[in-house]
Amino acid sequence: MEFSSKLLENAVYEMSQLPGIGKRTALRLVLHLLKRPAEQTQKLTLALEHLRNDIKFCTNCHNISDVEVCEICASPRRDRSLVCVVEDIRDVMAIENTSQYKGLYHVLGGKISPMEGVGPQDLTIAPLVDKVKKGEIKELIFALSSTMEGDTTNFYIYKQLEGLDVNTSTIARGISVGDELEYADEVTLGRSIVNRIPFVNSLKAN
Ligand SMILES: [Zn+2]
Repeated sequence: MEFSSKLLENAVYEMSQLPGIGKRTALRLVLHLLKRPAEQTQKLTLALEHLRNDIKFCTNCHNISDVEVCEICASPRRDRSLVCVVEDIRDVMAIENTSQYKGLYHVLGGKISPMEGVGPQDLTIAPLVDKVKKGEIKELIFALSSTMEGDTTNFYIYKQLEGLDVNTSTIARGISVGDELEYADEVTLGRSIVNRIPFVNSLKAN
């Protein structure tokens, strides 16, 4: 792509670094911004800057939060003995939308993936095991997507919990293999949380 302007080229390049945005789409977005009033671009850059500078992660569940302890963890109405293990904030949002779950979450920040160079130490697995050791948690629900990486991560955590006094379950697979939680419809996802099965049973099924 030949550019008549270095400024335009730079902006398009940076935009095209985002996932799913090719050079053509990047150019369209940049030209769109140029056509709009300058304030719109300023609002966008300010929002992104604030996001980067001020974002916090809940010290308990590691979900993205504006405060030290997120709303869910701070709520007295949530069942603290129940913890749902998820990959990221999108899963929390999807499960919250079902209104079927009243426990807390633990956000791992990804899945174990040797292909992408993500190991257990890159995720919040150690803090999760520490939390379980404190004894307040009665049940952990594994709610990672049923991909190979999701299964590997579940199993790794399950092994780390050996000998600890905690029940482990997994969401019922009404959600077909490979589906991401965030794309499952609310009814299916809600049902699969209510009808969760002991984690060991899911191992036997494989
Ligand atoms: Zn939290």
